[in-house]
Amino acid sequence: MNIENLYRQVIMEHYKNPRNKGLVDDPGYLTIHMNNPSCGDELTVQMKVENGVITDLKQQGTGCSICCSSASVMTETLKNETTDRALEIIREYYEMIKGMPYNPEILKGDALVYQGVSQFPARIKCATLAWKACEKGICKIKEEA
Ligand code: ZN
Repeated sequence: MNIENLYRQVIMEHYKNPRNKGLVDDPGYLTIHMNNPSCGDELTVQMKVENGVITDLKQQGTGCSICCSSASVMTETLKNETTDRALEIIREYYEMIKGMPYNPEILKGDALVYQGVSQFPARIKCATLAWKACEKGICKIKEEA
């Protein structure tokens, strides 16, 4: 099996069995809506931050397989990280998506399967939507702190 097929399998697995899917009705969560009109992706991310740690992340959206699967991967990657570490991981993810060198000590796991997206500029917004939602949420929480 070549590496691109492996990546595609991981993406389809997250698309079919999304992690942390479904929203909660809890005022302790911050809710962020994002959309990507160029593809039609719509996404809502909810996050709970306690003592600087992301203790829970939820996601619910509709859209393409890249967007929906990467929302699943994002929640798995950033849950239980501190907000500072999460911002570092998000920055490395953006570098990888742009086809730039990234730090494999910081960015690991299933998030790496999106590195091929750098060859398809039209899909970059799909692959970063969930990560931008989380970044936006963290920035809002930090501003209010
Ligand atoms: Zn999309």
